Amino acid sequence: MTAPGVTPEDAHLLDILQGGRCFYCGEPVGAKATFDHVVPQAYGGTDDPGNIVLAHRRCNQLKDDRLPTPDEIERLIAQRRRSRLAVWPPILALKDAGEGEEWIVLARAVAAQRS
Ligand SMILES: [Zn+2]
Repeated sequence: MTAPGVTPEDAHLLDILQGGRCFYCGEPVGAKATFDHVVPQAYGGTDDPGNIVLAHRRCNQLKDDRLPTPDEIERLIAQRRRSRLAVWPPILALKDAGEGEEWIVLARAVAAQRS
């Protein structure tokens, strides 16, 4: 999966932030890393580097179009805490969403990003 909004410098920084490991399985990923959209494009997720993680192609495909889990959101926030690659704001909104209202909270946050 490509992400035109991610510069080579961003990709290098992602590699450092993730310690050279796949965001999903934690195994070394190296030069075979693909860009995964934490909030899938199907939900309005953009190429903002704050919505991109490095992942194996297989892990990227396994994740498919699901939303990030609470654990994944926490991990992303922890990795980006002292980074210029801040977490994409709709992901932070999703973190605070109640059970069953994730998609509507996310849709509103994505719309707010566009306005
Ligand atoms: Zn992986």
